Amino acid sequence: MERQQISDALVSMSLEIGRPENDYVILGEGNTSARLSDASFAVKASGKPLLTASSGSFVEVYFEPVLRMLELASATDEEVKTLLQQARVDQTNDLRPSVETVLHASLLSLPGVNYVGHTHATAVNAVLCSKGWKEAISGRLFPDEIVSCGIAPVAVEYVDPGLPLAKELHRRVNDYASAVGAAPKVVLMQNHGIIALGASPDEVLGITAMSVKAFRILAGTSQFGGPNFLSEENVLRISSRPDELYRMKMIRGTA
Ligand SMILES: [Zn+2]
Repeated sequence: MERQQISDALVSMSLEIGRPENDYVILGEGNTSARLSDASFAVKASGKPLLTASSGSFVEVYFEPVLRMLELASATDEEVKTLLQQARVDQTNDLRPSVETVLHASLLSLPGVNYVGHTHATAVNAVLCSKGWKEAISGRLFPDEIVSCGIAPVAVEYVDPGLPLAKELHRRVNDYASAVGAAPKVVLMQNHGIIALGASPDEVLGITAMSVKAFRILAGTSQFGGPNFLSEENVLRISSRPDELYRMKMIRGTA
């Protein structure tokens, strides 16, 4: 896809994510990004609402200087801000890249990941902000959840947003990719929110919508004895079934 098409697709995806009836984000919550080339990506500017996203809501940033920040032992908020400003392709632009830009650079470097959507969906956070969150997300509930969201999410305990969170997630998603042989579809962050990783904007939207549905079903199971997770055997069978793989490709737009 041409850069302009990618930028337009990122804006459309962001507007869809920001729709109030979805209840994924309010005000300046959440952020989205897309890989524009091997050298750079577009990420939401700090404080811009997804509800009113436009081409002016995004900043183009070089991968290389942002990925180098993952090697810093620590950095002050001011240092992070300066390094992110310096990584912008257009230095005359006065938009500030989101505080989660390092995280987006890391996720967009995974194989097959071209678009990222991070939200604070109410149905998801109702669980991620609960004492029993880890147990509650320890299994898969229904076949379409596996098709859209993969065999399991990467789940991380609460970490300070910004560079510390980016470093922790970088380690965890790469461990997952090495173990499973593919990038995760979903990252869940305790007391924070969800990240959907997709090859296309539609895949990011599908993962987010299906995750919200799964979390609503999970909440419903608490009235009837708690979740009945599918067995690991069933999860793996769904994830490797040729017809399910074909459906997954259709959803991703890569069939
Ligand atoms: Zn967030």
